[in-house]
Amino acid sequence: MKHEHGNEMNNKNYLIATIMNVIITGAELVGGLLAGSLALVSDAIHNLTDVISLVIAWTAQRISSKEMTTKNTFGYRRAQIIAAFVNSTFLIMVSLFLIIESIRGFLNPHPIQGALMLVIAVIGLVANIVTGLVLARNEGNLNQRAALLHVIGDALSSVGVIFAAVMITWVNWLWLDPLITLLVAIYIMHETWSVLKEATNILMEANPDVDLQAIKKVVLSCSYVKGAHHFHVWQLDEDRTLLTFHVTMENQSLTQVEKSILEIQEVISEKYHIDHVTIQPEVDHIDDQIVDTNECQTN
Ligand SMILES: [Zn+2]
Ligand SMILES: [Zn+2]
Ligand SMILES: [Zn+2]
Repeated sequence: MKHEHGNEMNNKNYLIATIMNVIITGAELVGGLLAGSLALVSDAIHNLTDVISLVIAWTAQRISSKEMTTKNTFGYRRAQIIAAFVNSTFLIMVSLFLIIESIRGFLNPHPIQGALMLVIAVIGLVANIVTGLVLARNEGNLNQRAALLHVIGDALSSVGVIFAAVMITWVNWLWLDPLITLLVAIYIMHETWSVLKEATNILMEANPDVDLQAIKKVVLSCSYVKGAHHFHVWQLDEDRTLLTFHVTMENQSLTQVEKSILEIQEVISEKYHIDHVTIQPEVDHIDDQIVDTNECQTN
């Protein structure tokens, strides 16, 4: 019951954030075109990507919570990582587009209606703060963090657009419009980069800073262990780390081997917060040695 309630809250938050973003997008796009402000139009384009990001994140979260099956034995947790990767890539592309447009704005300044720009930007800021407060409750995993970063970026960009609108109305500094656009684009790109990097590392099965040398030392410190090799460590998602390796021991009863393996697994899981440790016990296998498999029935 408790779990279901949590999901309902998330659904409601995502829905509010999505509706708010659709409203901001429409208002800024129309207002930006009427006022002739590139910064406002850019903000609208960015908000449109937010809507898409939120829908992808929401869908991925639904898929990720599905239980594992015999086909997907790791479950569907990676769906969120793939979504974060796609979101980030898309946002980097949008940032590049905004940078190109801002350079055009510097080269060909157009007259801008500062007053209209100001009104729309203030509406955008208020809407972004509301969305930010709603999404802040969900902070945690990559997608939600990515979504929250958008909202912070949007709020900051709205402040920038407000400042530009005031200065354009007051002293007609038209160059502030493309400048704010450029700053917003660089900001989005900077914030997106870390999410893209983390998602890429997980998809590449990279080691999430687990000290394998230290683990090997711990394993070798067990009196019954003669050697340890063939280590693999990777992440399923941001919260789950998996580890596999081989351990060489004296020839002994399987009951004794199982006891030793369980002991090593327990020590490593506790000390290094690894959720899934798989150990292959061996008597005299040295890595890369050809093993006689004749006794196995391969059908
Ligand atoms: Zn955004
Ligand atoms: Zn291997
Ligand atoms: Zn081995």
